[in-house]
Amino acid sequence: MTYKNFTVETGSDGIALITWDMPGKSMNVIDLTVMEELNQIVDQIAGDEAVKGAIITSGKAAFSGGADLTMLEGLLTDFHKQRAKDPEAAAKALFEGSRKLSLIYRKLETCGKPFVAAINGTCMGGGTELALACHARLGSEDDGFKMGLPEVKVGLFPGAGGTQRVMRMADGQQGMQFLLQGKTLRGAQAKQLKLVDDLAPSKKLVDAARKLLAAGVDPVKPWDKKGFKLPNGPVYSPAGFQFWPAANAIYRRETYDNYPGPRYLMSAVVEGLQLPMDLALQVESRYFAKVLQTPEAANMIRSLFVSMQELNKGARRPAGQRPNKIKKVGILGAGFMGAGIAYVTAQAGIDVVLIDRDQEAADKGKTHSESLITKSVQRGHATQEQKDKLLAKITATADYDALGDCDLVIEAVFEDREVKRQVTEKAEAAMKPRAIYASNTSTLPITSLAEASSRPKNFIGIHFFSPVDKMMLVEVIMGKKTSDRALSMALDYIKAIKKTPIVVNDSRGFYTSRVVMTYIREGLMMLADGVPAAMIENAGKMAGMPVGPLSLGDEVALDLAWKIVSATRKDLGVKYVEGPLDNILEEMVVKRERFGRKNAKGFYDYEGKNKKLWPGIPEVTGQPKPASSFHIEELKQRLLVMQALETARIFEEKCLTDVREADVGSILGFGFAPYSGGTLSYIDTMGTAAFVELCKKFTRKWGPRFKPNKLLRDMAKGNETFYGRFPPEKAEVQVEEAA
Ligand code: NAD
Repeated sequence: MTYKNFTVETGSDGIALITWDMPGKSMNVIDLTVMEELNQIVDQIAGDEAVKGAIITSGKAAFSGGADLTMLEGLLTDFHKQRAKDPEAAAKALFEGSRKLSLIYRKLETCGKPFVAAINGTCMGGGTELALACHARLGSEDDGFKMGLPEVKVGLFPGAGGTQRVMRMADGQQGMQFLLQGKTLRGAQAKQLKLVDDLAPSKKLVDAARKLLAAGVDPVKPWDKKGFKLPNGPVYSPAGFQFWPAANAIYRRETYDNYPGPRYLMSAVVEGLQLPMDLALQVESRYFAKVLQTPEAANMIRSLFVSMQELNKGARRPAGQRPNKIKKVGILGAGFMGAGIAYVTAQAGIDVVLIDRDQEAADKGKTHSESLITKSVQRGHATQEQKDKLLAKITATADYDALGDCDLVIEAVFEDREVKRQVTEKAEAAMKPRAIYASNTSTLPITSLAEASSRPKNFIGIHFFSPVDKMMLVEVIMGKKTSDRALSMALDYIKAIKKTPIVVNDSRGFYTSRVVMTYIREGLMMLADGVPAAMIENAGKMAGMPVGPLSLGDEVALDLAWKIVSATRKDLGVKYVEGPLDNILEEMVVKRERFGRKNAKGFYDYEGKNKKLWPGIPEVTGQPKPASSFHIEELKQRLLVMQALETARIFEEKCLTDVREADVGSILGFGFAPYSGGTLSYIDTMGTAAFVELCKKFTRKWGPRFKPNKLLRDMAKGNETFYGRFPPEKAEVQVEEAA
């Protein structure tokens, strides 16, 4: 038989080699045709007496990226359409549709012939679940082998047997962590967890699988035999009583119960482990169909999978621009940010010229790369050869002439107009005329910085987040005169360093910095309202933010916040309305020199890695009221509504122009409650009418900063959604990597 996505060749030894190699794609993913063909292949192998066993491998550099989640989006769309007419039939169709893959894998597992997965490179999501359904697994040891079940990261959980098989194979605690955190395992870790049986060089993987089959692989899984014992013992056992309540507590601590994905995952595991495999898989499928119907899953799939991929693959790249070859990048300023940008650029194989005021400062910036890559080598994530190669890519110097052959120059000197003006002039004098110049400023409008440039068309904002090597987002800022060519260069560069871009129009604070400041400000306003500091911080975390607003204020630096407040006061003159915020910042910064993390004194006291809330806060704010005077749910809402409202304003001002960028940018840039799908999805899910009502209520209670803007009020009349009113242009991008 011939297949579109697979070849099946049976040798004289009776072993069928199934090679998965999807035409026209760089990565194997599971879509409807792949499922259909896999089903037929299992029938073919099971029904062919000449076949004694089978090996599944990939013809590509990686095994599989997992399931194409747009397939699930399709299932959900059908479900919502049908539900209005016949809810029961709709639920049944969703259940049947979403468990198809699980049934195929179970058929493979019980077909009577042994299957061995020869896993080369990356193996994710549904690809990992396929491997787990096989009777033995070999991983490659030399081609960046990675294995993971990242479904929880997009609001789901592994629904094709993953939860049941992992917990029947691995140690309980490690297995649960692997599932709940959606972590990726390297070869040795996967072997230690017993998720692969052994490792072999990638070129010898198939041979090793053949040998394994020749030596005999049991086609019946341990859990399908009488007397099977769970690695961690039964759920209801002394060991289980120790383990499960603690696991539940950790789940609560980590998620504040905001995420239905891990919640249903825990239920599927605890209930499934008490049942025989077929029933356990059915339980898993029921929870999977349930999680699919939650707004959290729909929003997370949309923002963190579909939109993110579209943005990564150039959804905002201007039409008609040829791809840019980026061989060399110049970086001005080898400080905190410049050093990080140098590292990620060199890691992408691009030559870097790293410039600072003198050689010593430039060299210091380079040592940052050295320490990061040294750590990678120590952890076994990089080789000495890779380290040498990376460091050879970075030239640290104080000589601006070295910028002569750079395609792109990124400025990351002090946040000071005059310093920035000087380096722009100096750099442009050395750069080739068509090279692009970008500023990493966090707040200064690009159009005004471009006034120092003799070629403002080539001037753009490329705003990184710290720490640069960890943060996935890059905010691109278009000045008034920035050309499409400059934008295409910025986007090609960001693609090369494997980060996600959003493109915004110029304004003070752009998108992310502006919204982040409202979160910090709301925390300070709460302090002024008499909310106890610990309650404010907990409200932030319980709402799904990575840290509380006071803690974030300390990270960003309170003296910086004070500088911004003072500058705004100066700009607005008599129009400036003095508020409690001015008082708190003045007391903290001017009178007490509490600047935040940078001088180890802010709303927290810092001692090494430890921090605790500064007991002197009441000296600044007055004694707090009792916690019982406030509703925690309202505090949580205040913190999220303020950020979502600011986003709606920025959208109305056309600084943001694409709903996907608002959502993806908010999650990747400042960690806005990921379960919500982002700031605008948060409003859409609540409904614009309800959101506007809430804003009005908060305006009456907490002040005019909550006043809903005109766009929101207009949309609320018909309860329109952002995605409905501003549908993003469907990008012609191929979705390849999946979960
Ligand atoms: P930093 O003080 O750590 O580094 C600035 C570097 O610029 C220093 O090494 C300094 O010696 C160098 N420098 C100053 N004048 C120079 C000149 N004339 N020529 C060459 N080098 C010169 O500051 P940072 O935190 O890296 O910030 C740099 C820029 O990035 C700022 O515009 C800042 O707003 C922006 N930014 C910072 C962050 C952050 O979290 N720190 C985040 C995003 C953007």
